[in-house]
Amino acid sequence: MTGPVAARATAGFLSEYGHQPAGRWAAPGRVNLIGEHTDYNDGFVLPFALPQRTVVAAAPNTGQEWSVWSEQSGERISFAAAEITAAGGTAAEITATGAGLPSRVTGWGAYVAGVVWALVEAGFRVPGARLAIASDVPLGAGLSSSAALESAVLTALVDLGGLDLPIDERPGLAQRAENGYAGIPCGIMDQSASIRCRAGHALFLDCRSLAVEHIPFDLASAGLAILVTDTRAPHRHVTGEYAARRTACETAAGALGVPALRDVLSDAASLDPALARLTDPLLRRRVRHVVTENQRVLDTVKLLRAGQPTRIGPLLTASHASMRDDFEITVPEVDTAVEAALAAGAYGARMTGGGFGGCVLALVDADAAERVAASVADACAAHGFTPPVSFTALPGPGATRL
Ligand code: ADP
Ligand code: MG
Repeated sequence: MTGPVAARATAGFLSEYGHQPAGRWAAPGRVNLIGEHTDYNDGFVLPFALPQRTVVAAAPNTGQEWSVWSEQSGERISFAAAEITAAGGTAAEITATGAGLPSRVTGWGAYVAGVVWALVEAGFRVPGARLAIASDVPLGAGLSSSAALESAVLTALVDLGGLDLPIDERPGLAQRAENGYAGIPCGIMDQSASIRCRAGHALFLDCRSLAVEHIPFDLASAGLAILVTDTRAPHRHVTGEYAARRTACETAAGALGVPALRDVLSDAASLDPALARLTDPLLRRRVRHVVTENQRVLDTVKLLRAGQPTRIGPLLTASHASMRDDFEITVPEVDTAVEAALAAGAYGARMTGGGFGGCVLALVDADAAERVAASVADACAAHGFTPPVSFTALPGPGATRL
């Protein structure tokens, strides 16, 4: 149960605080199998939890004070109740004013202080705590180390304080920590995946109703694996491009008179007239991506429910083409990786995550994963790209006490 990451969290706790922790809690990173840029259009996503996870070793502290050490940042920070109350706001407010507030925890600590803040805002009396964190989720690679950190800390604090916070309310609270305190305008997918995923399943999340369903995705027993490749491509203009995509979707939904693009269906009778009503070809492409991507998520869920995982391959590949041609969020590194994985025999492959760099996933036979990874690396080398890093992933469990 307790791998090297948990041992490192415990060792870090011992050396920082001089005594054993009261317990250890873990929350995973995630990868999104399909459903990209659908979340803020009230649509569907289908993430699963990675085997990589963030572990928090923790013990209660006297008073309303929190100390946090992280192996990844190599430092320990402390904050008291005064530094977290009245320090949050909307993501836009924080981005505009927050950096200058003397009472706000900034940097990586904001993700931790944000969880305390969100709990306090929700009316909970949060126990002071000593925390030590270790993780093998790559930071900033699009595999959601930020949600893993928030979810692990949240789960630990809820248990330590005996707080009555049902599991279905936890993702929203962790998201609020990131939006309202760290100032990052992320959706609900990452925290939902880190908290609610189950081993051997993908998490079908309706971003409008927030209903979740656990969809069987038992790759191991089918002899399959997901090969995840971090292209390590430099992220280019991510924040501005993300905002531009959101604005385009909102503009298109307004022009079409629907609350969100989720309300445009993918059948020809629905999509074609909608596209015809948009005069701007760019908006037409953006809408086509979102609408067809939502349908691909639904089709993927249907195939997985029917126990036909290899048949989702073409949907993954179609998702990539849509991101490349219609949503225009891929870069040469990820296009190259996807093409190389397909040429090496993957059932399907796509960029995963917000785009402009980041990771690619490919559905492969488990015993072919190494060969496909080598082909991807060769293709990247031939283009003179940064060498990618690949690993295979089977759907793991969500946040838990160890
Ligand atoms: P992603 O969530 O895709 O990994 P983000 O930019 O959203 O990328 O979050 C990465 C940030 O989260 C890091 O720069 C750091 O501030 C914080 N973070 C995540 N995990 C840790 C950790 N184990 N220790 C310290 N900071 C962490
Ligand atoms: Mg993140």
